[in-house]
Amino acid sequence: MRRLVRACFAGANGYSYAKKAEDVAREHGIDRVARLASNENPRPPTPAAIEAATAALGTVNRYPDERTAALVEALRRYHGDYRFVTGAGMDGVIETVIRTVVEPGEAVVVSTPTFSFYGLAAAAHGARVVNVPRREDFSVDPAEFIEASRGAKLAFLCSPNNPTGNSVSPETVEEILEETEGLLFLDNAYVDFSDIDYRPLMRRHDNLVLGRTMSKIFALAGLRVGYAFAPKWLEPFYRRAATPFALNSVSAAAAVGALADPDRVREVRDHVRRWRLRFRNETPFTTFPSDANFVMIDVAPCTGDEAVEHLAARGVLVRSCTSFPGLGDHYIRVSIGEEWENVRFLEAIRDL
Ligand SMILES: *Cc1c(COP(=O)(O)O)cnc(C)c1O
Repeated sequence: MRRLVRACFAGANGYSYAKKAEDVAREHGIDRVARLASNENPRPPTPAAIEAATAALGTVNRYPDERTAALVEALRRYHGDYRFVTGAGMDGVIETVIRTVVEPGEAVVVSTPTFSFYGLAAAAHGARVVNVPRREDFSVDPAEFIEASRGAKLAFLCSPNNPTGNSVSPETVEEILEETEGLLFLDNAYVDFSDIDYRPLMRRHDNLVLGRTMSKIFALAGLRVGYAFAPKWLEPFYRRAATPFALNSVSAAAAVGALADPDRVREVRDHVRRWRLRFRNETPFTTFPSDANFVMIDVAPCTGDEAVEHLAARGVLVRSCTSFPGLGDHYIRVSIGEEWENVRFLEAIRDL
């Protein structure tokens, strides 16, 4: 019956998921595994988020508010007077934006190496994916990006970029916005860990979408809450294209609770920045500057897969970057975790 499956799923691999901590623990006989493979927040969400989610459970006999008005209101309180669209994780937002503007067969531009889901979602939609490689130092060549985007309705750029960790300056983003007629989806999943603020660009450009997630600094990865700053014209069409009630009411309530605790966000940011520096200084390999809650490390002459095995045997789960198209086979990506996890990683990488 395999012949029934669409070519985009029958042939290629899908999303690469991290290995399970329980499997690593069992394989190597380790009690507690340091989980540094998925860029999650190692700490549980703020009590305000847990309380709000718990209270919302009492009304799940009703469908959620399709406009997620309470969440949009909380986002305005947190960010200021912008327009927002929401979804089931930023992944859900990415999918819906593609559906809103791209016809099957049309081009979708992706700056690589980067997060794989832009290309996967575009291909699943029947779009033609156009990859634009970054320079050798992983910076973006705006002229090349603009040239590749000519005629395309949608382009994806990730900043800070997953897995390389570097950012594109707001000036470069603005240069791209001025020269492209399509929509630019700027993925800001990790922007809370950086010093950069792209939000003012929303005031000057109506072809920019800023993707955000509650999965990383806000510690709600398991609840799947994403949103985006969107131009006003896009909103009604986005809603038409979206899967009805994709963002559930418990998750939306948790997000409102999490947004109400900015002190918690600052704590996480400080912790990440402190350790990001130590990772760069204390790892005996080339590490790349990072504005995110992870660092990419060049483990040559080892391969990324070998390094992952070595670290797993010592109870540390990290991500090999071999599955990121356009990147060599000798990189790993390591998330900043809790202190004990970070210490164990630094010890384990020393004898690689
Ligand atoms: C984690 C991540 C996302 C996905 O976020 P969800 O809201 O959990 O779907 C999007 N983009 C990048 C670059 C990410 O690393």
